Amino acid sequence: DYSTPTARNYELERSQISLNEKIGVGQFGDVHIGTYFPKAKKNTKSIIMGNMEMKSSVIQVAVKTCKASNDPQKMEQFLEEAYIMQKFDHPHIIRLIGICSESPIWIVMELARHGELRAYLKANSKKLKRGTLLLYCYQLSTALSYLESKKFVHRDIAARNVLVSSPTCIKLADFGLSRWVSDQSYYHSSMCILPIKWMAPESINFRRFTNASDVWMFGVCAWEILMLGVKPFQGIKNSDIITKLENGERLPLPKDCPPRLYSLMSQCWAHEPSKRPTFQRIKETLYEILVEEKIS
Ligand code: ADP
Repeated sequence: DYSTPTARNYELERSQISLNEKIGVGQFGDVHIGTYFPKAKKNTKSIIMGNMEMKSSVIQVAVKTCKASNDPQKMEQFLEEAYIMQKFDHPHIIRLIGICSESPIWIVMELARHGELRAYLKANSKKLKRGTLLLYCYQLSTALSYLESKKFVHRDIAARNVLVSSPTCIKLADFGLSRWVSDQSYYHSSMCILPIKWMAPESINFRRFTNASDVWMFGVCAWEILMLGVKPFQGIKNSDIITKLENGERLPLPKDCPPRLYSLMSQCWAHEPSKRPTFQRIKETLYEILVEEKIS
């Protein structure tokens, strides 16, 4: 059960949002920066303060748009991500602010000002300290430990789905794939879209997705972070991955990665799902690694 923390209505009036520049392209349509003007509360203070109060509460947001405005099935699929996001309340998970559910549908979310983690890692590779990379891994593990406690499986943990809010704060985004994998027909018809190089052997072989397969994917994502945005298994064909994994091959030790972290990643990549650590354990271990880093 992952019930909503608040039963508030997420519907927004379109006039409360203005669309600004485009910042990304999603599966369903463009993503824009937006300005959100929350409604002023009807109390004496806001009447006295007038426009000043309104101005001070303006919020910069990210707005996902959906171009398939004539396909009800696509629109429902697009909104599915918002329905999932509204169940979560965590400092390292992108928050849903609201939706405009009539065509053109908009999903309004918390803005991550520094954009995608992979691009950020590449652009700042020279100045990023090892401690910061470890902090990102730790923050991600707290988000995933939270999802694990809610018995929620993300199924697409990868650096491309992590956003940067500030130089010391990353957030997990993209709850899109969860709805797709529940749809078997989608699954078999477009298998090429699956993130094979991030997936656990049982996910590749049997389409089995659990908290333990999320743990495997987290290991790969932590590896990408320590590699400053390098993608895993470069130059290897998707179709060759499973044979390599079953022969015991794993991603190599990233340069400058603490041995204790590589050992943790390797545990995440245990072939047998039950031998992998839980996110609760991973979170505790990463906290210790982070403290050791600060001391040394
Ligand atoms: P989809 O999952 O539908 O393909 P994404 O969630 O990946 O779409 O969004 C596409 C791009 O838009 C992202 O890669 C990122 O660059 C940008 N983006 C999405 N959400 C946000 C956000 N909350 N803050 C900042 N940028 C975002």
